[in-house]
Amino acid sequence: MTNTAAPEIRASACPHDCPSTCALEIERLNSRQIGRVRGAENNSYTAGVICAKVARYAERTHHPDRLMHPMRRIGEKGSGAWQQISWDDALDEVAEAFLKREAQYGSETIWPYYYAGTMGLVQRDGINRLRHVKKYSEQKLTICTTLARGGWMAGTGSLHGPDPREMAKSDLVVIWGTNAVHTQVNVMTHATRARKDRSAKIVVIDTYRNATAQTADLHLCVNPGTDGALACAVMHVLFKEGMADRAYMEKFTKGWKELEAHLQDKTPDWAAAITGLTPEEIYAFARLYGQTKKSFLRLGYGFARSQNGPVNMHAASCLAAVTGSWQYEGGGAMHNNGGIYHWDKTLIEGLDAIDPAIRTLDMSRIGPVLTGDKTDLGDGPPVTGLLIQNTNPMDVAPELGKVHAGFARDDLFVCVHEQFMTETAKMADILLPATTFVEHDDLYQAGGQSHIMMGPKIIDPLGECRSNHGVISGLAKRLGAEHRGFDMTAMEMIDETLKVSGWPDAETLTEKKWHDCMIDFDSAHYLNGFAHSDRKFHFTPDWSKIGADYEGMPALPDHWEAIFVADAEHPFRMVTAPARNFLNTSFTATPTSLKREKRPTVKIHSQDAAAIGTEDGAIVRIGNRLGSLLIHAEIFDGLNPGTVIVESVWPGKFFIEKVGINLLVSAKAPKPNGGAAFHDTAVWIRPEADASD
Ligand code: SF4
Repeated sequence: MTNTAAPEIRASACPHDCPSTCALEIERLNSRQIGRVRGAENNSYTAGVICAKVARYAERTHHPDRLMHPMRRIGEKGSGAWQQISWDDALDEVAEAFLKREAQYGSETIWPYYYAGTMGLVQRDGINRLRHVKKYSEQKLTICTTLARGGWMAGTGSLHGPDPREMAKSDLVVIWGTNAVHTQVNVMTHATRARKDRSAKIVVIDTYRNATAQTADLHLCVNPGTDGALACAVMHVLFKEGMADRAYMEKFTKGWKELEAHLQDKTPDWAAAITGLTPEEIYAFARLYGQTKKSFLRLGYGFARSQNGPVNMHAASCLAAVTGSWQYEGGGAMHNNGGIYHWDKTLIEGLDAIDPAIRTLDMSRIGPVLTGDKTDLGDGPPVTGLLIQNTNPMDVAPELGKVHAGFARDDLFVCVHEQFMTETAKMADILLPATTFVEHDDLYQAGGQSHIMMGPKIIDPLGECRSNHGVISGLAKRLGAEHRGFDMTAMEMIDETLKVSGWPDAETLTEKKWHDCMIDFDSAHYLNGFAHSDRKFHFTPDWSKIGADYEGMPALPDHWEAIFVADAEHPFRMVTAPARNFLNTSFTATPTSLKREKRPTVKIHSQDAAAIGTEDGAIVRIGNRLGSLLIHAEIFDGLNPGTVIVESVWPGKFFIEKVGINLLVSAKAPKPNGGAAFHDTAVWIRPEADASD
């Protein structure tokens, strides 16, 4: 008899590294199987819309290539020869390897390394509890948000902005440096509502005519790393043509008179030569922006992924302070709302066990770290033990040449806890199978909106998979690490963390599904003052407050040519923008995502293709001082000549020479506080006559 009963629907939250953190409804077919995944209609930010890659999540959770059992490497590193072992044996071997190395080199020789493969607070951040209790090397979390966040904080002093749902009440939404259609689809939901309901305009500022730019009323196609110049020229016009709100600036800002004087020569003609835009395009945008009171800047991460990224972000954020658009509903600027949540993560992260004397290693420089760069290691020991959760540095970190050389070291013991056989998993000595978000309990916080959400376990763990919390607790016992968090369940940790942070407890949150933490209008719009001690927005940022390496940074918004500029040897500027069907390297195992993305390509303008003698579909060699690789060319005129785009992150195995595009991305730490400048790379491109498809 056919079972016609409707599947049970469970509430959850998207765990992936995306600002939207969508509220989900997941079909539970039975205790070991999920069905369709939809966006929750009654969550006012998600509004029933999620991206296609998460809508087909069953493909990922039930993928036949999921890692299901603990395994021990039995061949050469990376050879793919494994032996299935028990959990007890696996955890015993990891603990034994770590204890041996600690005894030889001291605790800092072990580096727990993680990032945002899941954004759940317990399963993502619990690794820090083990780190702190054991006094393992600290990790500076620079790979994603540092550059953008520093620039934002320099102006406003706090990581928050207006409620992003206000975009629907705006008359002009400026989507700057984020391909929202690919990376946070809900921005489009609210921006297009404004267009539909009130004929609002949508402007997109990006380095290529991507899916978001295709929806725009005006697309400003800028050269990579030149957004600061555009912002300056727009502000020049705002001041010159009477669209600057001097009364607002007098009350709410610091340094506006210096700014006005400084911008005298930052004309649209000046910026046109830098940005690749025409002066007319800059005037058109400046006038549209200046004449629209309810103008909402949605500032993304992409345009800050550059050596001059914080300066660009700060310059862009200045626009709202010049026009005073902060005063209006549907106006102001929004980058991230992480500052509204006041979490107490002492329990989850073991913050009560931190030893400030322990060294900190920069995660974006894992290549130099593992290859023994003294700039990073200082007087401390080499890293000889890695415990990796939620990230895939063999594909996503900068300077892959060094990363790969480091992982190949015979004296480096690597434990990887993963869902799939990633390039990093391939280099493990002990490989542990990890649950997906539907198989464990966790708690989520949205950066691009304002909800906290529960993500309770929906099905039992598949195979022998264990959660990150389970692995950390199991290792702690074997390593002699004591903290009460290791003896608690994930749900107990969620409950206590919610309570001590001043939010509804776990039972209430599970019942409600989510809690909206949005702050009041005046606070969100900084109408009680900005968050610096003088309560002003700073046009003249104090970069020393953002990071120690601030010498030489500009005192006012500017085009800061700290980037890897194109030169005769490297005539192209490369951006590694996110692909629609991947999220970093998550989803690169799912068949539909792979089918839709087809293969790694470099998008090249037809003029450039003609100049170098290549054509659509041909194989070219692309390189710089860090190395070179073969890739298919795609002729694409939706970018400026001189710019090339490689949408990613394709794992290395999909490239002809089995190494990914971040081979060419520098690990040089940008000022003032480090980061990963993924969109700031100068390259050469040559036809590869002998390469065959
Ligand atoms: S848009 Fe972002 S948060 Fe929403 S389902 Fe997709 S990846 Fe998850």
